[in-house]
Amino acid sequence: MSNPFIKIEGLSYRYDEDSSGMGKHPVLNDLSMEIEEGSFVAVLGHNGSGKSTLAKLLNMILTPTSGKIFVDGKEITDEAMTDEDVLSLRKNMGMVFQNPDNQLVATIVEDDVAFGPENLGIPSDEIRARVNSVLSDVGMLEYATHEPHRLSGGQKQRIAIAGVLAMLPKCIVFDESTAMLDPIGRKEVMDAILRLNREKGITVIMITHYMEEAALADRILVLHDGNVLLDGTPSEVFEQEPLLKSCGLNVPQCTSLIHQLRDAGMSLDGDCVSIEQCAELILQTLNKER
Ligand code: ADP
Repeated sequence: MSNPFIKIEGLSYRYDEDSSGMGKHPVLNDLSMEIEEGSFVAVLGHNGSGKSTLAKLLNMILTPTSGKIFVDGKEITDEAMTDEDVLSLRKNMGMVFQNPDNQLVATIVEDDVAFGPENLGIPSDEIRARVNSVLSDVGMLEYATHEPHRLSGGQKQRIAIAGVLAMLPKCIVFDESTAMLDPIGRKEVMDAILRLNREKGITVIMITHYMEEAALADRILVLHDGNVLLDGTPSEVFEQEPLLKSCGLNVPQCTSLIHQLRDAGMSLDGDCVSIEQCAELILQTLNKER
């Protein structure tokens, strides 16, 4: 890979065993992978497959049991990391969680977005410029003086994203950040994520259980049994419908439809991860048969 922003080598993680016996098995087991700078990677896996654990390891909320993680060329698992190194990693690697309400800290939108840079002692002129710029990036500039708790879920989540962006990260990990939103909120947040990736070049790692969202990524990683089961473009990964189903995962509905039509004898060759692609495939076949 030309320029891996993240490099993971032989990563294992095991939670301390509690009285219920949980944590006995390693959640991640000798996992290695690279993530290219500027890419958009979706991470899929059934509940408990270790997606959030991986996100927390990348953000140094957890420390690996064994293995190494490099971010932007620096080994973040190095025991000699100073407090300054940790702060610099956290600025570089933002995280957006599931519940927007848990991520908002102030009573006015612009104060909320300014919270991170203020804590870093950045001059107020620069903070003002950053706040306006990142609110505009997520399409929320007109809400700068609103109260966050009056906003919709999708709007709140976009404010949380703006708060992370105000730290000028190179990469953002979204941990099921659309899971609590209605379809409109999900679309607003997905549009914002896509823009940040495509227009600002921010590396995006998106944990999701919505296959239609994963279909928008450049690459999908499927975690299973502590390691990477599948790694490829959405088209390559969703081609493996039986394997995905065997680990409790689905494919987008439109992809499943094409697979069923193929099983029924229709010859449909080509990518089928979006509704547009599926419609095109079916039209092509119908035209050929006429
Ligand atoms: P996912 O995000 O894919 O749902 P997680 O990374 O949250 O998976 O969890 C992976 C496994 O680790 C699950 O079996 C879960 O029960 C276990 N686990 C998560 N957090 C803890 C913890 N704090 N202590 C013990 N076990 C945990």
